Formats: sequence, C-alpha cells, structure tokens
Amino acid sequence: MSTQEVPTGSAVAAGPDAELDPAGRIDWLRDQIRRHDAAYYEHDAPTIPDADYDALVRDLRTLESQHPDLITPDSPTVDGVGGAPSALFAPVEHRVRMMSLDNAMDLAELVAWGERTARLLAKAGVEDAVRYTCELKIDGLAVSIRYEQGRFVQAATRGNGRVGEDVTDNVRRIDAVPAQLSGAAPEVLEARGEIYLPISAFHALQERTRQENDAAEAAGRRTRPVPVNPRNAGAGSLRQKDPEVTAGRGLDWWCYQLGEVVGAELPPSHSAALEWMGQLGLPVNPTTQTFDTLDEVHEFCRHWVDHRHDLPYEIDGVVVKVDDLAVQQLLGFTSKAPRWAIAFKLPPEERTTLLRDIQVSIGRTGKATPFAVLEPVFVGGSTVSMATLHNEDQVRHKDVRPGDTVIVRKAGDVIPEVVGPVVDLRPDGLAEWTFPTDCPACGAPLVRLEGEAQHLCRNPSCPQQRLAALSHFASRGAMDIDGLGEQQLALFLEQGLLEDLAGIYALDWDRIAEFPGYGETSVRNLRRSIDESRSRPLANLLFGLNIVHLGSAGAELLAGALGDLDTIMAAPVEELEAIDGVGPVIAASVHDWFSDDRNRALVQRLVDAGVNTTGPERSLLPQSLAGKAVVVSGAVPGRTREETADAIKARGGKATSSVSKKTWALVVGDDPGGSKLAKAEQLGVPVVPATEFEQLIETGELPETGATT
Ligand code: NAD
Repeated sequence: MSTQEVPTGSAVAAGPDAELDPAGRIDWLRDQIRRHDAAYYEHDAPTIPDADYDALVRDLRTLESQHPDLITPDSPTVDGVGGAPSALFAPVEHRVRMMSLDNAMDLAELVAWGERTARLLAKAGVEDAVRYTCELKIDGLAVSIRYEQGRFVQAATRGNGRVGEDVTDNVRRIDAVPAQLSGAAPEVLEARGEIYLPISAFHALQERTRQENDAAEAAGRRTRPVPVNPRNAGAGSLRQKDPEVTAGRGLDWWCYQLGEVVGAELPPSHSAALEWMGQLGLPVNPTTQTFDTLDEVHEFCRHWVDHRHDLPYEIDGVVVKVDDLAVQQLLGFTSKAPRWAIAFKLPPEERTTLLRDIQVSIGRTGKATPFAVLEPVFVGGSTVSMATLHNEDQVRHKDVRPGDTVIVRKAGDVIPEVVGPVVDLRPDGLAEWTFPTDCPACGAPLVRLEGEAQHLCRNPSCPQQRLAALSHFASRGAMDIDGLGEQQLALFLEQGLLEDLAGIYALDWDRIAEFPGYGETSVRNLRRSIDESRSRPLANLLFGLNIVHLGSAGAELLAGALGDLDTIMAAPVEELEAIDGVGPVIAASVHDWFSDDRNRALVQRLVDAGVNTTGPERSLLPQSLAGKAVVVSGAVPGRTREETADAIKARGGKATSSVSKKTWALVVGDDPGGSKLAKAEQLGVPVVPATEFEQLIETGELPETGATT
C-alpha cells in the first residue's frame, strides 16, 4: 500500500457513492470537512487523523473538477482558511491575510508545482531561474506577533485567515517570544511563525495528566483525556482562557514569515527576510536552506523524511517558498494559499484502519495482554498489523471494539499505538469488548488480582507461557544462548524434547540430529552455546527465571547484595525488601516465587545441570562509575547495545535511557537520536563521544574534551 492510500474503514470510505450520486457525495464531503475543521481549529480536538482529512479534501477537489457545475462559492475548497475564530478570545483583523498552503504529496506533485510557477512567470515575461527557500513545516499553530517600535504588542492566531483570535496574554508568557526586538526595529513588524509543543514538554504534559487522572479517580472526580499528539496538545495549550496554564506548558516557537512591515524597506528575498528577523532576535529555524533547483529541494525533503525524529519537535512536511519577493508578488495567491509556496507533506504518522479483532497473548510470567489485530496499515514508516492494548482498563478507557475504525499512531521507532476509535464511523450495535474469562492457549481461568491491572494465566504448563518463558530464558539479557530462539524452542516443545527451563540442559541430541536443518555443525554450535550459558552470572539466571516484576536491574541488585542463589532463596521478605532499590513489590514476588515447591524443584534441576549460582561478575571490576547515571545514544564501536549497558553496570554505574538532570554523562555514538542530544545541551549534561567510552568506564572521569556544554 502506498503511503498516501487510505485504507478500508477510513473516513473517506464512508458516505454516498460518487458514481451513483456525485452531488450527494459532494454535499456529504463538504459537510464532513466543515465538521472536521471545527473540531480541529476551534476545539483543538480532531476526531480523525490528518491523512484522512486530507483524503476527504482531495476527494472533494477531484469531484469538483469532474463536475465544475457543482462548485459553489461556499465550498471549503474555495472559501476560507481554517476555522472560525472562537468566542473565547477577542477578534483581531489581520492586516495582511494569513493563508493556508497547497500540498505536494510526492516528487511528481512538487515538479508539477515548479512547472506551474515557471509557466506563470513565463507569461509575465520572467525567464530567470527561480531560487527556492526550504523550511521545516512545524506541526503547531500559526500565529502572527506584532511588534511596534520593537515592542511586543499583540499576538493573534490565524483563525479564518482574515480574522484571528487575540492570544496576546498567552503568547506573552512564552519564553521564546522576545518582549523587545534587538537592534534597529521598524515602526511595525509582524512576525509570523508556528507555536508548538516540543516533544519533551508533550511527554511531560501526558505524564502530568495521567498523574492528575489517578488522583481524580481515587477521589471519584472526572478524569481528562490524556493528550495524544504534540500538535493538538500544543494548540490546546495556547488557546487557554487562563494564560497561567499556557505559561506552564513549555511552548516554543519558530518564526518563518514577515507580515505587515511599516517604516523599513523590505529585504529583496525571503531568505534575506529570515536573516533580518534573526538579527532582530526572533527565533529562525537553523535548518532553513536556499537552493537553485527542484532536485536539490527534493533532496532536502527526502533528508527530512528520514531524519524527522532527530528533531526535538514534530514536523509534518517541508515548506518550499520562491525566494525572490518580487517574483512572489508576481505569482500572487489563490483564494486560500500563495502560489509561490508549497508544502511537501511527509508520510503520515497517524492513520485510520479497521480493528479486526482484540486477542489476548500470554507472556512468560503468565501475564495476559490484550492486543489489537488490525487491517494492515502503512504508518510512520512501516506496515502495522498489531498493537498492544496493555490491559483491560486501557481497552475500556479507549473504548475500542472489534469492527471499529481506529486511529493508529506510530512516530518513528516508537511502538505503534491505538489512539482510539472514530466514533462517527462505528457500525450500529457494535458490542463492547470483554476480557476473556479463560486463557486462549490452555483454557485455564484468567484471574485479575486485587489492585492489579493485569490478568494472569496461572497454569505453569500453559503452552504459550512455556514457550515465552523458555525464549526469555535463552535470550540475550538472560542466559544468552546463541541459536536457541523461539522457532527452535517451539520445535523442541512440540517434539516433547523438553518441558521446562531445565530441559534445555538435558536435550536428546541424537533425536535433534535427525531433524531437517540440524546438521553436524549446527548441532555442535548449539550444544556449545548451551554449555557456555552455564557460566552466566547469577543476575542473568535470576532474570531468566521469569519471576513476575523482576527485571534485569532488580536481578542485578539481588545478586549484588546477597551474592549467591541459596542466600536469595532463603532470605525472608524483609531482607529482600531492605536491599537498596528493591521495593516491596519485587521483594514479595521473589519471595513468593521461591516459596513454591515446583519452582524450588526447577531451580534444583538447573543447579544439578551445572548453572552458575554465585557472585556477580561485576564485583571483580573496579567500581569506577559507582552511582553515576550514563545515557548512551547511538552505537558504541565494538559493542552491542546490551554490551554497552552491561559494561556501565559492571562498573557500578546506572545505564539509563533518558537524559535528565541526574544524568552524569551522555555518550554519543553513530546514528544518535537528536532529542537526547538536545535535552543534554538544554540541561548542561556533559556529552562524551563514543570513541572515549572505554576511557570513560575505565577511569570514571569525564575526558577533557567531553564536557561540551
Ligand atoms: P497546512 O497545515 O497544510 O499549511 C499551512 C500552515 O502550515 C500554516 O498556517 C502554518 O501554520 C504551517 N507552517 C508550519 N511551518 C511553516 C513554514 N515554515 N512556513 C509557512 N507555514 C508553515 O494548512 P492548513 O490550512 O493550516 O491546514 C490544513 C491541514 O490541517 C490539513 O492538511 C490537515 O493536515 C490538518 N487538518 C486536520 C483536520 C483533522 O480533522 N484531522 C481538520 C482540519 C485540518
């Protein structure tokens, strides 16, 4: 499926048939678009993804071009930009109109735009080559900020392009908006730009809302929806009645256009205008570039398709503008957008698709997790056909039902998420989903423990749980048995060669040698990997045992504090709980697990098979990083991600995944993520190149060149 196609079940698939009733479909499309405009522009709460909205608009345009007699002056393709200004704010009339932008979805549409402008210019007698300035299309809210004699006096949203909303008090509270321009400012200067919520501020807002919801739920009060994307959260944060609320949200802005200017000569080009605005102290995005050819423009667009997630804010395209302001003037405007600019849209990160089913998978500790089975949809750079729904409460909270059209979001490497249903498209009588009472793999009852969100299958011989537990035991972070993956384990289980974890050390190799694909060399290699796994550190063994709540960090703490398996097995729960970093939940879970006779018997068989049950390796190494939190972004030469983390932990350090004030150093290797770097720079966390990693862990000291901020 191409990135622009809209799948079955989407907003555009509904409504009257265009062949049978074109006029009816046109009316329906106009009505839909107006409703979505109101939800998006006036309430900052769209109900469908932008890709679906764009598909509705395209559908309408196509139909109107096929039936020009049906075009009316009030059609959303002809009239107005965006939504009506709301009554929440006073109206502000824009002296220079704020426009929308036409879109190009791919290279062909970009080239078509280039040819159109060239034709128009040729008609006007301009034969000179056109230069283009390319800017990131920030996914936020357009504002116009007015400076008089260099002083901030007013800020307005775009509204319908002619009249916007007065958001002066709110914008005044945004740190990135200067109260006073620097240098020789003209009598009047309107700076246009995008106010947006940086990704880190968006995550902080999500977290805050979740915490407030927990408190509200406990007190029996109503909860608020957790924001689902930075664009809508940003627009909502700006359009607040109380400027104090806006102030606390961490909004930012980039400036990208001049509006009204009085008392100064206009620069000759858009790029010169941006430079001038920068000199006046306005924040102009540093990625902006000017090119001579559309090929170079396209290269710039392609670069940002691949690198959009290196930025600490979201973009949804690249805006290409004819650079020469005199040429811009010749090209002029359509009723909605300048002819001298085009937005090259990046592939969407939110799409709609059909929720075919909700199924439940059983994890290694028996955890029953519901997941969405989706009509495959191309979103955020890959095809998504499944997404976790976490637990019963999440499904109920989102109210997604098999048969719904749902919004799926996938931004970069982040795991895909079902945002929620498009309620308008829900078929009549669609039943709510209920959590199954029995395990889908073994039929045992699924139980939800008091105070827990998760259901559990408590049958240790459940086939799905057993396979997941074995795979985990053999995985990298646990016993690290090379060549023993889910596929091999499923075969051995099916053939009755093993029943539990200890069975891995008592496999019938004569039988395995008879299986297709198990030649002499592969059998020898697999036997060697299994043998080698016997000497893994105690922490790896503990982690491999699939004890509920015990992750690798907890396992290391236990191994580090108590030193051998017998001591851990015999420790009273209070002793486990007293270990620094091990909370009551982990302590109780570990204690319970080792109190179960079946588990003790399993451990005994592992011990009999010769697995190592003592001391953490790390105590042998100097604890040069004791108590220091290190974040690694990108690859460290010669080490895998796990090995890098292990090396930090083995020296007493903490390998954490996100940069905070507590981070001691950020190590930056090949292909780093831009947001970590930006955060480190913002917080003044020292940045160390990966080439210095070995020295860093040996000495526990920052290299001289390392502290860059
Ligand atoms: P647009 O978002 O495609 O382009 C115009 C806007 O781009 C400007 O107003 C400005 O806000 C922004 N922009 C960002 N960086 C810019 C830069 N460097 N230079 C100039 N402008 C820049 O057009 P639009 O008319 O604002 O909105 C239409 C879009 O809004 C749709 O394509 C859709 O994505 C979204 N929308 C979605 C829904 C929905 O229900 N999901 C409803 C209405 C609109």
